[in-house]
Amino acid sequence: MTRRRFYAPAEGFSSDTLSATLNADETRHLRDVLRLTSGDEIYLFDGAGREFQGEVQTIARDLTKVALLKEVAPACPESPLELTLAVALLKGEKFDLVVQKATELGVTRVLPIITARADIKIKREDDAARKVSRWQRIALEATKQCGRACLMQIETPATVAELIDHQKATIGIRSMFAERDGVSLADVLLTAGKTLTNMTALVGPEGGWTNDEMNHARGNDWKIVTLGGRILRAETAAIVAATLLQHRFGDLA
Ligand code: SAH
Repeated sequence: MTRRRFYAPAEGFSSDTLSATLNADETRHLRDVLRLTSGDEIYLFDGAGREFQGEVQTIARDLTKVALLKEVAPACPESPLELTLAVALLKGEKFDLVVQKATELGVTRVLPIITARADIKIKREDDAARKVSRWQRIALEATKQCGRACLMQIETPATVAELIDHQKATIGIRSMFAERDGVSLADVLLTAGKTLTNMTALVGPEGGWTNDEMNHARGNDWKIVTLGGRILRAETAAIVAATLLQHRFGDLA
């Protein structure tokens, strides 16, 4: 039977990992959706890679106490590829879809990117914070469903220039996906050799990249990648990029 999996952050676990506490959201899910009661078996993961088998003890209005029986191997291991997926801000549901699929595809972190032709603009800081917490909720749901024990990180939105500047210090290949003026992914990966453990993929908005953005990336040693001749929707391109890279270097064998 598939595991009934719940999430508790590290601070929700007792230091001897013999018990843990579920928060209000997880308690609602356990009690009102799955209709579990004390004595039922559940699995608990900490978002950092550890998973435990446990038994529901008491369910209160806003929290559930769980007795932990033993540590178990996570429902699925993490991909060997550390994959950062940077995606231009897209309209509501499209970015939600990217977050959900990226989680399922084993992406390590998603970076929402502010671009010149972005479909939506972030107006205020609390707007960004609200969006990030929504995406984190979507990622958590997908994590529970797909069996990962590590949470995918979601950063606060940054500009293309900030991303390029920040990624200078990282190892691995950095590629900007564009529907024009790039080389094939196969060509870029030729230089990577057989194993690659770290990669950043950047996908643009529906309106595409400006020449300035592409030149800036090129000038900072990013590879421009064009996949075939068809223009993909941004959310398709993001899902495809993650899939292709996990297939070549990660665990989508
Ligand atoms: N408005 C643009 C298309 C933008 S598509 C135009 O019509 O010219 C949105 C994003 O998806 C692009 O910025 C790029 O990152 C990605 N994308 C779409 N098709 C692609 C392709 N064939 N190869 C690589 N990236 C692609």
